[in-house]
Amino acid sequence: SSARLDGLGTTIFAEMSALALRTGAINLGQGFPDTDGPAPVIEAAALTVRDGGHHQYAPGLGIPALREAIAEHQRRWYDVELDPEREIVVTTGATEAIAAALLGLVDPGDEVIALEPYYDSYVAMIQMAGGTRVPVTLRAPDFRLPIDELRAAVTDRTTAILLNTPHNPTGAVLRREELEAIAQLARDRDLVVISDEVYEHLTFGAPHIPIATLPGMRERTITISSIGKSFSLTGWKIGWATGPADLVRSVMGVKQFLSYTSGAPLQPAAALALGQDASYFDEFRARLQRQRDQLCEGLASVGFEVYVPEGTYFATTDVRPLGFEDGLDFCRRLPELAGVVAVPHEVFYDDRAAGRPLVRWAFCKRPEVLDEAVHRLQRLV
Ligand code: PMP
Ligand code: GLN
Repeated sequence: SSARLDGLGTTIFAEMSALALRTGAINLGQGFPDTDGPAPVIEAAALTVRDGGHHQYAPGLGIPALREAIAEHQRRWYDVELDPEREIVVTTGATEAIAAALLGLVDPGDEVIALEPYYDSYVAMIQMAGGTRVPVTLRAPDFRLPIDELRAAVTDRTTAILLNTPHNPTGAVLRREELEAIAQLARDRDLVVISDEVYEHLTFGAPHIPIATLPGMRERTITISSIGKSFSLTGWKIGWATGPADLVRSVMGVKQFLSYTSGAPLQPAAALALGQDASYFDEFRARLQRQRDQLCEGLASVGFEVYVPEGTYFATTDVRPLGFEDGLDFCRRLPELAGVVAVPHEVFYDDRAAGRPLVRWAFCKRPEVLDEAVHRLQRLV
């Protein structure tokens, strides 16, 4: 292998899903829902596949109808105006958008500030771009942004801040004052912000605020999202990056050589998904919030210390009240001990000690599945 892969190993999500399959454990590890999203959207995709017309390469930027729908979505929810011809690129999930943004905007030797615990592809793609990651750690119990540490992390080599809100794995949703501090730093130090907002519709009370909506930020922010989380269609891998034309051009410059273009037959239905009416989003959010509460109450009843998330698919616990010290070791033994799979925070940190006792549990599962998981976890006590 090339040096680009040094230390990256196999993603924890693949390791833990394989463990669940092998042991028959309930998979609360990898974040994917067990209920597929909106029937009319799936029906539209089926019709597109059957009727044809979208089986050959889509335009590199994505089909016009999807770019229009992304522009309309950003206008409707955030009052952001985008030119679908120059300021939007459709990607193969948010994952490709993250990869293309980092490869297109980071030079070898550049420093990229990222919130730790990190979503694992950030580490991999900063490394592949030749950049150096500089962590700013969100710490239990409330996982707020330590603004002084963020300021101290900026050097003359910093070129970008990679954000994620709502934040995986902690479930934190960045507040306006935290975003303002980041924005001020970005403006003062002339930094690009890459903002991963795939959980934008999964907030439970705290509002989601795209950093691109703050003064002076539209022109320096690449905003990334995808269809997967908002519409329970994680396997579709349709995502996008939006922002000013010069930054989007850099993302497209890489994307054209990574995949050239993305999943043409699913793009019309992705456009339909983005236009779902308000009741869809309300019901979806309410359902996930009930599942969050159900799982958090269940985990607390077993004896874990639970950090109830403000957003995302994930709740975090400290495993020490149950007599465990190390979350990675706990997760590797959990299928055998209790027939459940979860994900250790530890692997998402440079400062591994900060994440050692923490474990992430996905609640994007049917109530009966969550119930059975909690029931099994009683075996731990
Ligand atoms: N970013 C974060 C924070 C995620 O949790 C995920 C999860 N899958 C992704 C990006 C990747 O999104 P996609 O599946 O659209 O590539
Ligand atoms: N985003 C999901 C998670 O965090 C799935 C990630 C993946 O499988 N790459 O669990």
